[in-house]
Amino acid sequence: MAYDFDLYVIGAGSGGVRAARFSAGFGAKVAVAESRYLGGTCVNVGCVPKKLLVYGAHFAEDFEQASGFGWTLDEAQFDWETLIANKDREINRLNGIYRNLLVSSGVTLHEGHATIIDPHTVEINGERHSAKHILIATGGWPQIPQIPGHEHAISSNQAFFLKELPKRVLVVGGGYIAVEFAGIFHGLGAKTTLLYRGDLFLRGFDGSVRKHLQEELTKRGMDLQFNADIERIDKQADGTLKVTLKDGRQLEADCVFYATGRRPMLDNLGLENTGVKLDGKGFVEVDEQYQTAEPSILALGDVIGRVQLTPVALAEGMAVARRLFKPEQYRPVDYKMIPTAVFSLPNIGTVGLSEEEARDAGHDVVIFESRFRPMKLTLTECQERTLMKLVVDAATDKVLGCHMVGPEAGEIVQGLAIALKAGATKRHFDETIGVHPTAAEEFVTMRTPVAG
Ligand code: FAD
Ligand code: NDP
Repeated sequence: MAYDFDLYVIGAGSGGVRAARFSAGFGAKVAVAESRYLGGTCVNVGCVPKKLLVYGAHFAEDFEQASGFGWTLDEAQFDWETLIANKDREINRLNGIYRNLLVSSGVTLHEGHATIIDPHTVEINGERHSAKHILIATGGWPQIPQIPGHEHAISSNQAFFLKELPKRVLVVGGGYIAVEFAGIFHGLGAKTTLLYRGDLFLRGFDGSVRKHLQEELTKRGMDLQFNADIERIDKQADGTLKVTLKDGRQLEADCVFYATGRRPMLDNLGLENTGVKLDGKGFVEVDEQYQTAEPSILALGDVIGRVQLTPVALAEGMAVARRLFKPEQYRPVDYKMIPTAVFSLPNIGTVGLSEEEARDAGHDVVIFESRFRPMKLTLTECQERTLMKLVVDAATDKVLGCHMVGPEAGEIVQGLAIALKAGATKRHFDETIGVHPTAAEEFVTMRTPVAG
């Protein structure tokens, strides 16, 4: 049967755009539907604007430290409106680039909400289009627990567009977004409290990293409240939010920001018209080649709930394009050794196994750890310390994990990820000449184990 398109992609985010462009490049006839914003979450309400705000927040430290180097500055002033307007202009520019990328690669762009009508048909803006394959790349959406008063809370979607910087912010959650945004608000001058329901935030990260970040954020004056959860939020007549915790304590804030995970975006997608199945957590279930239970429908990225990171969605998009239209070049995505950064202030950079994961997996481990005051801070009053940690397998000498908390940790860990992917041993690290004077050289000069 002749279809209108070889591939119909729903969602022009990180994964959808990558799959669409490469499929078109391999000669397929491709359409992509987008209901909201070109470039998806990452470009519009995720990685990119977040990193711009993190840069903005970082200036507070730079100004403070500059005096140690002889600079005298008038009292620094910050204007939220300017930062948001400049950020919006940049995102607008990126939206245009995404449009050009799609059009110039021959992809047909349909702007509107797409609904799947049957396993080979998509409806958008009242028109139906048939396709041999449909790719669900619809991403995720913030999830806020439905406590009384939840309607007074915001999520990351709104945080990027606040009209003014709130004076007092309560951030709820202990994952990537909570930690990053707490750093943004705190750095920009808001009185910031981070509330997390467990004993220590960033569950799943290496224990030393979690503890070190806790100490650093506390040093900076952020209010960290663990084992704390909100029971209800009440809006007062003057707009203040009165927050009642489950233990009965009450806090006041001008903004309550929930960062408690993301659900798959499946709203009005029409999955009921297909045989697509969901997993236990509601994400779209796929096999190792991203095929759903409906043979003509594939899915990738955040909507399949594996690893919710842009580079992973990009890799999956590439794999799908190759699998469908260039099978001789198909390579499965390797989910091992995915490096990641949390753009808290200071940053976390990590790749490979945490000490806890390595021990749980049965490795006999040797641990190397270094904590030091970065050279840049020696002329300043700042007492921040950097943490670097290596988790090494005692039997094979292989480096199983590298972890860092400190300036530019995200930048540093990218290169280490290549080494770990190539199977580097501790001996390789030891035999590598350092780059001097840098913080990164510490990764190749750690000689004495702290634990075995
Ligand atoms: P998305 O990028 O979410 O794209 C899905 C697209 O589908 C959206 O544009 C949506 O509008 C569209 N859509 C949905 N339903 C329909 C429909 N029915 N019809 C038409 N269009 C539809 N990752 C990192 O690697 N590094 C970071 O620093 C980072 N920071 C983040 C910060 C925040 C605040 C958030 C929320 C996420 C962050 N992420 C980061 C995660 C990253 O943004 C996601 O993993 C990535 O965007 C997932 O890509 P995707 O293609 O699966 O979905
Ligand atoms: P995460 O899954 O990372 O964290 C969610 C946090 O919310 C956890 O601390 C969780 O606690 C807590 N939580 C969940 N449900 C509740 C609840 N009902 N009440 C109170 N607390 C709750 O999600 P995020 O929203 O931070 O981010 C989503 C994903 O986006 C990330 O996992 C990541 O993949 C991606 N991302 C990546 C970034 C990067 O690469 N720098 C930056 C931002 C996002 P518990 O641990 O106890 O379950």
